[in-house]
Amino acid sequence: MTKTARTYLDWNATAPLLPAARDAFVAALDMVGNPSSVHGEGRALRMLVEAARRDVAALVNTAPAHVIFTSGATEAANLALTPDYRMGRTPLAIGRLYVCEIEHPAIREGGRFAREAVTSIPVTSAGVVDLEALEALLQGHDKATGLPMVAVMLANNETGIVQPVEAVAAIVHRHGGLFVVDAVQAAGRMPIDIEALDADFLIISSHKLGGPKGAGALVSRGEVLMPLPLIRGGGQEKGHRSGTENPAAIAGFAAAARSAAADMAERSARIGALRDALETGMRAVAGDVIIHGEQVERLANTSFFSLPGLKSETGQIAFDLEGIALSAGSACSSGKVGQSHVLTAMGFDAALGGLRLSLGPSSTAADVECFLAAFARVASRRRVTGNAA
Ligand code: PLP
Repeated sequence: MTKTARTYLDWNATAPLLPAARDAFVAALDMVGNPSSVHGEGRALRMLVEAARRDVAALVNTAPAHVIFTSGATEAANLALTPDYRMGRTPLAIGRLYVCEIEHPAIREGGRFAREAVTSIPVTSAGVVDLEALEALLQGHDKATGLPMVAVMLANNETGIVQPVEAVAAIVHRHGGLFVVDAVQAAGRMPIDIEALDADFLIISSHKLGGPKGAGALVSRGEVLMPLPLIRGGGQEKGHRSGTENPAAIAGFAAAARSAAADMAERSARIGALRDALETGMRAVAGDVIIHGEQVERLANTSFFSLPGLKSETGQIAFDLEGIALSAGSACSSGKVGQSHVLTAMGFDAALGGLRLSLGPSSTAADVECFLAAFARVASRRRVTGNAA
């Protein structure tokens, strides 16, 4: 097989920009005006932003008025995770934030809560939120401090494991709490309905869907229960997020949301078949490969594996030299590979670490072949006995 181009298997870090998202982005960049201006130019941009709001709302089955555009999921998380809420005009205090151990740092850092007001919810060894532990935590919650808030992701960015969000919602709401769901990795990869999930807020990000980086949204269930704004100023986004909107990024985000909503089931089945071929192929080469989360429901595009004798950092570099872009556990912004907090939470030997393969709509059988050829070479060089390399 002769394939010289690189093989991109890191869609959970960021998806390649879709042509439709690029076109929408560029077209909006060329539009003059400010969406808040009342003249024709401004009104044209306002129409574009509002059309985009409808597309993003449709992706999670809610009303456009429930979508607040932000600069990305991290900002949306910092907007939602705050002790200060309002129910209409009445202030509502949130006393404590409970976050699942395997959350992305955007959530795990606790947003605007003081560190002492953030409690971790453990996961089982299968990588699924421990519902009994959550129940016990909420039973012990001191309501005198304010209501409890719980944040649990819909699908994990490292393992792809889908969390039992409806069951979490039932527990949270029985205890009178607020429920925030990070749907960043799930959006566009599985159907999402904010009502069916019974979430109070959802967080989504454009660049995981094939839209441009720098756009995201906080989606609310209604318009009455809302967090105090993180960014104050000119009152854009109905006062929930001030600052001139970024119409180009928002238009690209909407184009990606439209594309993700189309043929989701067929696309997911095709990507799942490629992922399964990757895993079968790895097993054929190295029978001791460990695939995390394969016994529970996972996103069809993700495979997180550990190979005894191969440290994740070494593996990531080896695959990069082979022309394969994949991810090792959680990479921090410095590019340094940290230990996977997800594997640690699952009770796995995190020192060995894991390597994440993630695919998307334009992944091909040739990508699978390229990866498996590289995998055979990398696996043959590892130290199979003794300490991990
Ligand atoms: N949540 C999850 C699960 C993620 O995977 C990411 C990005 O990696 C984020 C939040 C943060 O998203 P953004 O890059 O839009 O701030």
